[in-house]
Amino acid sequence: MKKVLILGGGVGGTIVANVLARKVSPSEVNITLVDATGKHVYQPGFIYVAFGDEKPENLIRDERRLLDRRVDLIIDEATLIKPDDRKVRLKSGRILGYDYLVVATGARLCPEELPGFEAAHHFYDLDASVRLRRALDSFPGGRVVIGIGGIPYKCPPAPAESACQLDYYFTKRGSRHKIEIHYLSPLPRVFPLESVAPLVQEIMEKKDIQYTQLFNVERIEPEKRLVHSLEGESLKYDLLIIVPPHRGAKVIEDSGLGNRGGWIPTDKHTLRAKGYDDIHVVGDATDIPISKAGATAHYEAKVVAENIAADIKGSDTIRRYDGKVRCFCDAGFKKGITMVFDYENPPKPTKLSRKWYYAKMLVGKLYWSAVLKGWA
Ligand SMILES: Cc1cc2nc3c(=O)[nH]c(=O)nc-3n(C[C@H](O)[C@H](O)[C@H](O)COP(=O)(O)OP(=O)(O)OC[C@H]3O[C@@H](n4cnc5c(N)ncnc54)[C@H](O)[C@@H]3O)c2cc1C
Repeated sequence: MKKVLILGGGVGGTIVANVLARKVSPSEVNITLVDATGKHVYQPGFIYVAFGDEKPENLIRDERRLLDRRVDLIIDEATLIKPDDRKVRLKSGRILGYDYLVVATGARLCPEELPGFEAAHHFYDLDASVRLRRALDSFPGGRVVIGIGGIPYKCPPAPAESACQLDYYFTKRGSRHKIEIHYLSPLPRVFPLESVAPLVQEIMEKKDIQYTQLFNVERIEPEKRLVHSLEGESLKYDLLIIVPPHRGAKVIEDSGLGNRGGWIPTDKHTLRAKGYDDIHVVGDATDIPISKAGATAHYEAKVVAENIAADIKGSDTIRRYDGKVRCFCDAGFKKGITMVFDYENPPKPTKLSRKWYYAKMLVGKLYWSAVLKGWA
């Protein structure tokens, strides 16, 4: 009987567990998933909480209800991985052994790494999204600045998407004329994906969203309401929204398995941790230079589950991840864009369309029943 231990019950970990449970019989494998909270949160919904279109409670489910009944769930935090002994220590003191380890611990928000961050709002966790909603509700008018506190961060399109959502939100409230929206891009273009950037720039200009390119937020000066960049520029704000700096999970750093950012060096095709054939990595935890996104974790998880299943069954057929990602961005006014790309092919520019907005809404609906089960 082989033991598969999965750390993290987010997008990647849940899909690996569910697909593997279907592919290998319980007599051949014991699957255990360890999650720090036991609650699964649909993170793309945070933007809609911040802009008043979603209730926080609709985004949370018990992880147990999302997992195949053949998967054992332990609600605890992994604190140390010992690859040489094939063991993982949990916060409770429990020690778990494994034959295959899947690390799917996502990304950690580290606002403390950006001086002055306490003056900023964000929509990268549920509580902060609720606070941002209150701040927007009571905002009398002025300049709203949106910036990025460090690279890499989850869902690279989300800050540009939220600039468009601000335009939509204040238009609906009839106060858009009192608001200046200013978007700070850390790159020499307004959008991370180069082939889509001209379209996003056109959309921003039509919506009268101001932008500064190559503005990497270095620090915030709350007393003067100024945000400063590494490049030496400064901008005044009345309301500030900053994506907090991200790092990999603490357990990765404490186990000496991460690079400087705490991301695990990972083979971009096999999704195994470099130097450890029995450690598989999915989702935000990898150091692969592609979008840290649920869509990425979703495609990677299927590859990892199939490869572990094949190995347990004695097959040497290995599936390789080709870098596939498909995502949708909501540009406000019920219109959106889509992007499909992989390691070899950048996304083709698409048109702004209602179709892609509704596709994004559909993914949200299918998330719990099809995506997490690994059916979609
Ligand atoms: C505002 C926002 C909007 C987004 N929009 C989109 C979108 O439109 N499309 C898209 O594809 N992606 C989007 N994303 C990104 C997406 O949510 C993440 O990239 C995705 O959740 C990553 O999946 P994951 O499995 O790697 O990590 P996560 O889903 O974050 O899960 C990590 C899990 O690991 C657990 N964990 C962490 N450390 C430990 C430990 N030591 N022991 C045990 N458990 C641990 C956590 O409790 C958590 O359950 C968005 C994210 C945000 C914040």
